[in-house]
Amino acid sequence: MPVEVALARLLEMADASPIHDRERLPLAQVQGRVLADDLVSTLDLPPWPNSAMDGYALRVADWTGEPLVVSQKVYAGQAPEPLKPGTCARIFTGAPVPAGADCVEMQENAEVLENERIRFIEPMSPGQNIRPQGQETTVGELILPAGTRLGSIEQGLAASLGCAELDVVRKVRVAVLSTGDELVEPGQALGPGQIYNSNRVLLCSWLQRLGCEVIDAGILPDDLAITRARLGELNDVDLILSTGGVSVGEADFLGMALREAGELSLWKLAIKPGKPLTFGHFRGVPVIGLPGNPASTLVTFALLAKPYLLRRQGVKEVEPLKFQVPAGFDWPKAGNRREYLRGRLENGRAIIYKNQSSGVLRSAAWADGLVEVLEGRTLISGEYVVFIPLSEILN
Ligand code: AMP
Ligand code: MG
Repeated sequence: MPVEVALARLLEMADASPIHDRERLPLAQVQGRVLADDLVSTLDLPPWPNSAMDGYALRVADWTGEPLVVSQKVYAGQAPEPLKPGTCARIFTGAPVPAGADCVEMQENAEVLENERIRFIEPMSPGQNIRPQGQETTVGELILPAGTRLGSIEQGLAASLGCAELDVVRKVRVAVLSTGDELVEPGQALGPGQIYNSNRVLLCSWLQRLGCEVIDAGILPDDLAITRARLGELNDVDLILSTGGVSVGEADFLGMALREAGELSLWKLAIKPGKPLTFGHFRGVPVIGLPGNPASTLVTFALLAKPYLLRRQGVKEVEPLKFQVPAGFDWPKAGNRREYLRGRLENGRAIIYKNQSSGVLRSAAWADGLVEVLEGRTLISGEYVVFIPLSEILN
């Protein structure tokens, strides 16, 4: 199954079970959350014409070449008097322009004479150095649509409109399960045949960063009865996200449990790393089973599970930003799966980590992005490839 088909199916599923619950949060706490309602401006921004410069406000028509007397001083935060005809006002950046003035001349173009008189040196034009009322925003304008993910910039924008609180979609509750008899938690001694569980912390911290509520459901042994029982306990979550045990082999206990409970789709994705992916429901709770190899977990979470989770919260644009860069490597042998190579930008070209094995998480720590090589494609250095920055993927 091509990646875009799998994604389209997951997004359809997400659209069918949107999260409607919402909560009102102080503006400072909305980072990473999703806006529940359109944010519509109740203000003009700026609320009044203001000066873009430190200088002098005047009416252009009053300038004959003769000096003008300063009739008032206006600092930011003050309310000026209307401008006395035939005079100018000393004004500072951000201060309201007095009624009657139609231009601000910057102080560098003004000569201060005795008795608070100012000689203007260059011809001026109406509107110059004035930020007009409503230049950024007018009352009633849609500023951020519902479904916007909120970050520092959106917080700043909402603050500029005077919002102290915002209604956001409640957090998605995600249970994280790591499957595998071989897994041991860091801090414990490794026995024969055992490895440390790296997916658990990787996914839990990533999900937290994405604004999810994480239920860390620990390690699940490769055992059908225990799998069934554990899945049954996770009945109040929006998604069960597991890793491992989906390789269609005998140890696919997650798949077995889902099949029993009614619903399982096992997808062989045309993606590398990360071929097998499970989607199903366990007693009505959606389950995504990611492949267990750490680089596969990373890639399939980034390209499939994360967009799904965002869409459940009503986010429309769920795919990461991508851009084209010249390859700094050759790719002589075309693959039949789309590859997401862990790569880096060096001198404007994408280079790739030497070992692209799906078990090698170190490749991703070295990388700053995923280099997408389409199925059937060969490359010679200098040809363009798609680059997806990890910073996009992780946020
Ligand atoms: P599986 O899909 O269970 O066959 O796992 C595929 C590979 O990923 C095996 O080499 C597993 O040992 C490894 N693996 C599975 N889960 C984890 C995990 N949570 N942390 C690190 N490696 C894992
Ligand atoms: Mg396993």
